[in-house]
Amino acid sequence: MATTISRIRVICTAPEGINLAVVKVETSQPGLYGLGCATFSYRYLTVKHLIETYLEPLLKGRSVEDIEELWQLMHQNGYWRNGPVENNAISGIDMALWDIKGKMAGMPLYQLFGGKVREAVAVYRHAEGRDIEELCDNIRRFQAMGITAIRCQCGGYGGDGYGRAPSTAPAGARPGVYLDSQKYIRDTVRLFEGIRTRLGDEVQLIHDVHERIAPAEAVQLASELEPYHLFFLEDPVPLEQLGWLRRIRERSSTPIAIGELFNNPSEWRALITERLIDYIRVHISQIGGLTPARKLQIFAEQFGVRTAWHGPGDMSPVAHAANVHIDLAASNFGIQEWSGIEPPNFVIQELRKQEGALLEVFDGLPEFRDGYVYPNDRPGLGVDINEEIARRYPCVDGVTVWTQTRKGDGSLQVP
Ligand code: MG
Repeated sequence: MATTISRIRVICTAPEGINLAVVKVETSQPGLYGLGCATFSYRYLTVKHLIETYLEPLLKGRSVEDIEELWQLMHQNGYWRNGPVENNAISGIDMALWDIKGKMAGMPLYQLFGGKVREAVAVYRHAEGRDIEELCDNIRRFQAMGITAIRCQCGGYGGDGYGRAPSTAPAGARPGVYLDSQKYIRDTVRLFEGIRTRLGDEVQLIHDVHERIAPAEAVQLASELEPYHLFFLEDPVPLEQLGWLRRIRERSSTPIAIGELFNNPSEWRALITERLIDYIRVHISQIGGLTPARKLQIFAEQFGVRTAWHGPGDMSPVAHAANVHIDLAASNFGIQEWSGIEPPNFVIQELRKQEGALLEVFDGLPEFRDGYVYPNDRPGLGVDINEEIARRYPCVDGVTVWTQTRKGDGSLQVP
């Protein structure tokens, strides 16, 4: 008799103060369940509602074996599709079904994806500093941990923190994250010049524009950063302005990585077939889970485009594990963003407390050692959740402010 879906639940928890949503798919086979990541931190209750109200009734009683069929069923069931809320909801269930598939097979997921082509995945970390000296100190600390690629930023993502408008803005300008884009470009170019002077040519440097400047300025920045040989420049333009990538390509050899806001194949198809990017870095839950991510990875391989999946703090360890299982089996793996969920003794000192909370809630996290991340060899994704401890870290509701970037005249930075 087929094993069927008996119950689908959403566990919401915020062990690090970041809202996470993990889906648990329970089955007709006692003790057999799967976990998936449905984290859309800033709209997590909407995702939870969608799963419990619409997707659980759709899937209850269906065979857990039919992942492709169930993915397509969920994808088309609401008629309108490819939105971030729905995609994250689908991802939670999709990853959980893959987790179950691995448990039924008795194999870690990378085995089902074709087996390892590497023993572990190289990761990059994000270093910040108030000034270049502090930044270089933080880069050296990551280097001491064996990390060879580091994403660098001074003072957050180019702007100040959320707060009142600067005195140069017009009277009555609203609060926000104020960004003077030309100053940001000048400072960033000087920053990379300074890093190369201090740390030499060997360290691999990454910079994330976070799509916060005008497209024409992104063309300028990619060109001006060329002498510093970046590993890649991340999200130079928003997905609404992908047409500008051709201009960036014409003007500079700086490698481009893009995609953490992508929702559906029509956004990445031409970028890959026309080789307008070097790295595809989608957020796997945001495109609908492991099923579409595997298809995307294999598609990109045909065109020489490598993967650099999004791996920020606002995704659960279940999603980090999903990234790593694809990475291990992907010939076109490029690099993995890693936001620092190492066991405590590998964590830089001041982060230790918050990292500990995540490790209390989740068990079986991929493990960081000397610049690489290793998954465990448990069947499926290999990650479990302690629901009782998860409840001690309730999610935090409120208005999101870090997304409110404003230009010098007080208007919103729009895509
Ligand atoms: Mg980014």
